[in-house]
Amino acid sequence: MKNDVFERALAAYLCFAAGDALGATTEFMLPREIRDKYGIHDKIIGGGWLHLKAGNVTDDTEMSLAIGDSLIENGGYTVQGAAASFARWMKKKPVDIGSTVRRGIVNYVTKRSVVSLYSTFSAGNGAAMRNFPVVLYCLKDWVWFEEITISQCHITHNNELSDMATLVLGEVVKALIETGDKRAALDIVSEFIKKDPTFSHSKYNGEASGYIKDTFRTVMHYFFDSDSLYETVVRTVNQGGDADTNGAIAGMLAGALYGMDGIPQKWLRALDQDVVRLITKQTEDLLNAPMNVILL
Ligand SMILES: [Mg+2]
Repeated sequence: MKNDVFERALAAYLCFAAGDALGATTEFMLPREIRDKYGIHDKIIGGGWLHLKAGNVTDDTEMSLAIGDSLIENGGYTVQGAAASFARWMKKKPVDIGSTVRRGIVNYVTKRSVVSLYSTFSAGNGAAMRNFPVVLYCLKDWVWFEEITISQCHITHNNELSDMATLVLGEVVKALIETGDKRAALDIVSEFIKKDPTFSHSKYNGEASGYIKDTFRTVMHYFFDSDSLYETVVRTVNQGGDADTNGAIAGMLAGALYGMDGIPQKWLRALDQDVVRLITKQTEDLLNAPMNVILL
């Protein structure tokens, strides 16, 4: 059982990075433009508006690794530790950084603020996209998941829609890692949508922007409507829009369900091998790290 958990956790994190690298090519494109240019885009070839090298990842994976690093290096969660790790990442001049993320990190660097101002404009997917290491860290003691998640989200995104979606995504991927059962995920999502039907993906309208509801609906539509990891991730990134983040989150869920065997070998070979090594080490470290939390 323990090995199953490790294997699905690792597959989720690696496929998160693969979805990021694959989706970066089609970010901000329309499905029609993607079809005209690539037919079906399913190879990690880089390019896109960021002119990425094939196999490189973007802010989604880099910020996840940053928060994972902070949990390990600080021997647990501290909000200052997480914010400082984001600040170190920003100093390295990342290939991409969202405007809300930048504003939040600048506020930390200049004013030591670890809680951004509440804003209805902070309903982007930039906090949800980096929360998977928190899931891995909290698997051993889930009572801390909500508080750590909200704390790390609010460093840059202080918005209840972002909070809700990030929490439910965490619950879903936890259930998938622990059970490998798609119905467990469906139960959680159905319950959530009952409470807030505006997140429902049942009549998916193809909107795949970085707005958290669009991301949530896109990912859930393709996750539940597909029968393989390949299909889930490829259909998501071929929807364009915020294709790297949506591809990463879809990849995380698909990896947790289908495991390592579900990930195409050519994706694992194409991914930046330093990223593969960091993710593998971090997955093991986060699952084993003792729970220790200082929120303020
Ligand atoms: Mg990105």
